[in-house]
Amino acid sequence: MSQNWLTPDWEPGLALPSLPIQHFLEIQTKVLFLDVDGTILSGKEINIHQSVREWVTESKKHLQVHLLSNNPSVNRIGSVANQLGLTFTCGAAKPRKKALMKTLEELNTNPSEAAIIGDRLFTDILVGKRIGLYTVLVKPLLQNGYPRENCKVQSLEKKVAGLIGGVVQ
Ligand SMILES: [Mg+2]
Repeated sequence: MSQNWLTPDWEPGLALPSLPIQHFLEIQTKVLFLDVDGTILSGKEINIHQSVREWVTESKKHLQVHLLSNNPSVNRIGSVANQLGLTFTCGAAKPRKKALMKTLEELNTNPSEAAIIGDRLFTDILVGKRIGLYTVLVKPLLQNGYPRENCKVQSLEKKVAGLIGGVVQ
């Protein structure tokens, strides 16, 4: 495995609603892939926090935004996508490349023009790196719209990534 496949291009230490959209415009991103669970809403939550709604509304003014989730539930991911007015893929099987490649093709977009934002190294970041997207690791989102500090899963993933040489933190 290539060493930097587990090193996000950007790890701002923020949750999604705090990311400056301007950053993506500066690096000429045209298409943005968003992970769902943990990134735009927490766990089994179904209500999307206002800050996320506002962030997505703003980003849609400048970028094409697509939800890319490993969650197999069409009901859950479809309902989130509907609420935000976004297209979506569920059961994406990240870090496998197939679903992301297919969507890039459908959108007629080069990987270099796309970014992926997610809360997991071994799915979101890895699939983005494998295809050549700009990858952003965010802190998982809590129900109240704040980031989950000291997330155990993310810490564990970083430790494992560090052990195999991907991330030094
Ligand atoms: Mg996630």
